[in-house]
Amino acid sequence: MVDRTTGITATRLTSGYWMIVGRGPCEWAQPPSWPCDEKTLRDRASQQASELFFREAEGHQRMRVCSACGEEDNDFVGGVCVTCHNERQMELLRHNAAFDRWESLSDRERGDEIRRAC
Ligand SMILES: [Zn+2]
Repeated sequence: MVDRTTGITATRLTSGYWMIVGRGPCEWAQPPSWPCDEKTLRDRASQQASELFFREAEGHQRMRVCSACGEEDNDFVGGVCVTCHNERQMELLRHNAAFDRWESLSDRERGDEIRRAC
């Protein structure tokens, strides 16, 4: 898949090797496994591959799968991707707002709400 932030594409070849492609025609490497260490990546890279390519490949390796939505990302907050983190914050705010509202009701209003819900 193409990484939105680094422009790196990692593809598993039928030989079992990986083809890591960056932004330009000379920006590629073919390591035996992925992720791999930097030395392996450099040994297996095109002679013309730039430092930017190695930096971006390094960033790509830090991509992890979000435990909440299952999407790959390299921007994590508290173990989940930023999107899920924001959604959780919104959920928390909604929950707090509902709680505050409930707290502000009189006993009679609460009784009415419970009867309506049943
Ligand atoms: Zn997520």
